[in-house]
Amino acid sequence: MNAIDTEALHIWEIAAARLKAKNGYLYRQWFQKMLPLAVTEGVLQLGVPDDFFAGWVDDNYDDLVLEALADINGTRYTYKLVPGHIAPASAEVESVPAMEQAEKKVVSSGMSQQSQPRPAEKPLARRPTPQNCLACHTFENFVVGAENRHAYAAARTAAETPGLYNPLYLYGGSGVGKTHLLQAVAESVKRRNPEMVVRYATCDELLNDFYNLLQQKQSLSSFRSSVRDVDVLLVDDVHSLAKKTQMQEEFFNMFNTLYNQRRQIILTSDRQPCEISDLDKRLVTRFESGMTAEVGVPEFESRLAILRMMRSDTLTKVPLDDELLEFLASNISSSIRRLKGAFIRLATYAAMTEGQRLTIEQAEELLHSQLAQECAARDISLESIQRTVASHFGITLTDILGEKRTRTVAEPRMIAMYLCRELTSNSSTEIGAAFGRNHATVLHAERKVPQLCSENESIRRSINQLKHQLQRN
Ligand code: ADP
Ligand code: MG
Repeated sequence: MNAIDTEALHIWEIAAARLKAKNGYLYRQWFQKMLPLAVTEGVLQLGVPDDFFAGWVDDNYDDLVLEALADINGTRYTYKLVPGHIAPASAEVESVPAMEQAEKKVVSSGMSQQSQPRPAEKPLARRPTPQNCLACHTFENFVVGAENRHAYAAARTAAETPGLYNPLYLYGGSGVGKTHLLQAVAESVKRRNPEMVVRYATCDELLNDFYNLLQQKQSLSSFRSSVRDVDVLLVDDVHSLAKKTQMQEEFFNMFNTLYNQRRQIILTSDRQPCEISDLDKRLVTRFESGMTAEVGVPEFESRLAILRMMRSDTLTKVPLDDELLEFLASNISSSIRRLKGAFIRLATYAAMTEGQRLTIEQAEELLHSQLAQECAARDISLESIQRTVASHFGITLTDILGEKRTRTVAEPRMIAMYLCRELTSNSSTEIGAAFGRNHATVLHAERKVPQLCSENESIRRSINQLKHQLQRN
């Protein structure tokens, strides 16, 4: 462990002790599983298992963690969660309470994505396929409805007859089951043909490996063989290729090699190929040349079926009753990831309250912030976002809608566009129109703002504050 790590460890020991003293249950559930990685300029990087974990802590316990990090040896630290790290087993609680067992069961049935440690410097070829994901994301536990039937059928065909739909390109919003389907293909192919080489990777992992090797001036051969010497290649979230010219070139060659050998390629993205900004035309054409299928947000019936499946998979003494599941399914409709998160929260609580039925009122209380977010997501208007952002940054609505390109105006404008994408269901074209611009400008903002947030703590805070403010209104 180097000097920086020791410092991170020391800071986290103090903060973790505070968190434990404040709430032992939350400590065991969440904070104990966080791993201090490094500290730079007052920001403590904490490793967490996966994106779901990070999102949950960010949404629900941000204040608690910041409070615990306030005033450590006279410094007010902030933190950044880094998915892809599992705390060593020794850091786990010795006796796992029933509620944790319940959550673990749920987690292993579908929440844990890419939970293997992901050391950036290791070439992908040597990284194990995430077996835990393959076991939990299957076709059998994917609920099919009108909104995803086509994508499901195409994925099954790809698994049963690799190479028939080539490439298969699945697209849709966040938390709707794209990764689930991709990993179901991997699981199914491996089960049928154990000898086949199936490679699953997120596009970000490929990008990391690729640019690390380039930076270290190392040979790309291990990288190339890891993606080319395979029977089935599954790449998640290819929208990350936007603007990455060198990687696009590499991807294009890799694609051609596999395609010419009739190896199955499946890609997922949050948008259609032609909507990925600055994606080489040749790649757009290749991506569109096979089968594209949209994965839509599941309808009420499907959401309910997913919850029922989770219930039957969960170890609680008193299962959540139908009324509660219907309550969840009708109130949380934006993403299955959120829906599952809400279910876990209730199931965890139910497991703690030995033998007592959970009421709707209790559920409303427990899910207060999630329900508020859902309501807000449905109602927030583009104009209210523009106004709120303008007033937050001390500029006018006319500035936001105008042509000025000075940073004091351009940055808030970009943030407003980003929030419109985050908090409303309007398309990038509709949002662009509301700002007198085209959809490409909105897509640019959508990509750029998370980058700004990671570089600039005050922007990150502003955005969190704006989100809360807009969702409260
Ligand atoms: P995406 O990749 O589209 O962002 P994921 O595949 O990660 O979404 O899905 C988020 C969570 O919701 C996962 O736990 C997944 O298993 C679950 N999920 C999504 N759609 C379905 C479905 N139709 N049936 C069962 N589980 C689903
Ligand atoms: Mg995904």
